[in-house]
Amino acid sequence: MWFKSMCASVLLLGGCASFDLQPADVGVAYKIEHFPALTQTIVYVDEVRLSKECDPHVKRVGAKALGCARVNFDKKTCTIFLKEDSTQSTLLHEQWHCEGWDHREGDALHQGFLRWQEKIKKQSP
Ligand SMILES: [Zn+2]
Repeated sequence: MWFKSMCASVLLLGGCASFDLQPADVGVAYKIEHFPALTQTIVYVDEVRLSKECDPHVKRVGAKALGCARVNFDKKTCTIFLKEDSTQSTLLHEQWHCEGWDHREGDALHQGFLRWQEKIKKQSP
C-alpha cells in the first residue's frame, strides 16, 4: 500500500521508477518497419560466456558487452544474453532489439533484417 502510493506520487513527477523507461532512455533509436514478431528467451550467463556470445557484436575495440540479443529470423527467435547482475535498463535495451528497435538507421540489426528479407525474396518463386 505504501509502495503503491509512493509510486503514484512519483508518477505525477513524470515516471514511475524504471518501469517506465522509453526506448530512447536505454539507447535504441527507432523501430524497424515490418519487423516480425520473435519469441524471446532470456539467458543469464557468467562473464566468460557473455564475452564469448556478445563481444564479437561490440564494435568499439576493447569495449565489453553488457548483454546482447541474438536474432534468428528463420526460426523467429531472439535470444538475450545477460550477466546475472544486469540492470533493468540493459534488459529493456535487449528486449527492444528483439522487438525490432535499432540504435540508429541502418545499424546492425536493420542490416541483418534487410539481408534476410532479400534471402526470402529470392527463395519465393
Ligand atoms: Zn544495442
